[in-house]
Amino acid sequence: MVHPDIERVLLDEGVIRSRIAELGRQLTADYAGRKPVLIGILKGSVPFMADLMRNLGVDHTVDFMCLSSYSGDSSTGVVRLILDLRESIQDRDVLVVEDIVDTGLTLSYLRQNLLTRGPRTLELVTLLDKPDCRKVSISPRYCGFKIPNEFVVGYGLDYNEAYRHLPYIGVLKKSAVKA
Ligand code: 5GP
Repeated sequence: MVHPDIERVLLDEGVIRSRIAELGRQLTADYAGRKPVLIGILKGSVPFMADLMRNLGVDHTVDFMCLSSYSGDSSTGVVRLILDLRESIQDRDVLVVEDIVDTGLTLSYLRQNLLTRGPRTLELVTLLDKPDCRKVSISPRYCGFKIPNEFVVGYGLDYNEAYRHLPYIGVLKKSAVKA
């Protein structure tokens, strides 16, 4: 059953599951013989990270960071680091795992920040990409789906902390968005 606040489902569970399996196969091939560290960006990447880990056929470790640039349904443009990594990434093959790239400001900030820590390689994997919204030029090497410029929720993505638990990705009804 679709949540009553959802206008339409953009990506259902099955579509998400099979795309992540494909991404897993691609990453497994690309990282063969290496032991990457997956850095999940809290909180939106949690379901994606969990599914990606189970589809990744190479040994890997995980760590998390928390950044914030959003308030309600729009980016403030100011990125804040709320929680940092526990482990060093020096000489590691780093894969940053994001839920969605919108303006690109978050990933661009993160990329600069992580590069100063001396990783061996650094690549970005995002479940969703809204390429029409870029304010800075950044293109993740691995992307699940390119989507139009609409505010989406579900599968980790929230609106004021709600809807993260939905197993699909959908567009919110106008009536559910506070003016
Ligand atoms: P950026 O810095 O690229 O503008 O935004 C990245 C962050 O903004 C994402 O990690 C996510 O938290 C939030 N965001 C961007 N677009 C959407 C969207 O359509 N829905 C939700 N729920 N969050 C979004």
